[in-house]
Amino acid sequence: MRFGGWRNLRLGRVAGIPVHVSPTWFVVAAVITVGFQPFVARTFPDLGSAGYVVTFAFAVLLYVSVFLHEVSHALAARAFGLPVRGITLHFLGGHTEIERDAPTPGRDLLVSAAGPAVSLALGGLALAASIPVTADIPEYLLRVLAAANIVVGAFNLLPALPLDGGHMLRAAVWRFTGDEHRGTRVAARAGQVLAVLVLAVPFAVAGGRPTTFGLLWGVLVAFMLWSGATQSLAVGRMRARLPDLDPRRLLRRAVAVPPELPVSEALRLARERGARSMVITNSAGAPTALVNDAALAAMPEERRPWVPASDVARPLRSGMVVGVDMRGEDLLRAMRHELTSEYLVVDEQGRMLGVLAASDVDAALAGR
Ligand SMILES: [Zn+2]
Repeated sequence: MRFGGWRNLRLGRVAGIPVHVSPTWFVVAAVITVGFQPFVARTFPDLGSAGYVVTFAFAVLLYVSVFLHEVSHALAARAFGLPVRGITLHFLGGHTEIERDAPTPGRDLLVSAAGPAVSLALGGLALAASIPVTADIPEYLLRVLAAANIVVGAFNLLPALPLDGGHMLRAAVWRFTGDEHRGTRVAARAGQVLAVLVLAVPFAVAGGRPTTFGLLWGVLVAFMLWSGATQSLAVGRMRARLPDLDPRRLLRRAVAVPPELPVSEALRLARERGARSMVITNSAGAPTALVNDAALAAMPEERRPWVPASDVARPLRSGMVVGVDMRGEDLLRAMRHELTSEYLVVDEQGRMLGVLAASDVDAALAGR
């Protein structure tokens, strides 16, 4: 999750994986430090303002736990040969960005399970470590840390996207039905249901009269779940349409025009030939630039007879040429390499077949 304008700070690298921290992290660390002080004060009345040191230590330990949870996802992904882009720690935990291009459900399940497994293990370790400790404050910290890790591990195991358990449910449905997209749909719908249920939690724990803090927290978690689940659903729908993404179907017929031809003439020529795009060619007939739709639309009618077509065209670079046999993910990758609004589509021999508009690709992915 990203908050407008708040840039993430880079902490460094762990095993070569970049780690970032969102500024919201510091806000939550402050909320924990201040918000939990009354509880510490109740348990240790003699502590006074030193209680803040205890709550701050808890905030730090909690985030170290969350960090280890994310690192375990990252290392599991790495072990399966999936590239890891980075780890970001934010106010409700963390996020590990993994390029899951062609995973199998089994690998997806294990990568997702690694995080909650580490959280539960840390919780167990902290609990075990607290038993021989008799000093009040370290014992208290270890117990609270154990509880926090067990809650984090258990909550993340709930079978609903975007939680780890949701990824596991998705992988399981995928494994048993052979349909990856059905897995996404089921797990994302479960995420939306869970979001609604989470809203009821502050009421349930407070006997119908929730505290402001509880209500705020419930709304925040519900919002995170709802937006994550809804986004998973949208991405899933888009991925389901990917195999149909074919330049042959989206191709716009193009007309070749010399660079000095006035825009009005070029448009007339295109209309005559039933073409929607224009490609500037040199005297040898080789494409040198693609007329840009937006620049063309912005050109006032009365200027069109006086402006050469090359003035509303983008010079052709190698990244703006795509092969007609590029499909789905390959096509998107090629387009991402050079972000522009028009691409030249060529056949195996490099002959021009037409123009692919990025807006047509967007529309096809959005199902429009
Ligand atoms: Zn996780």
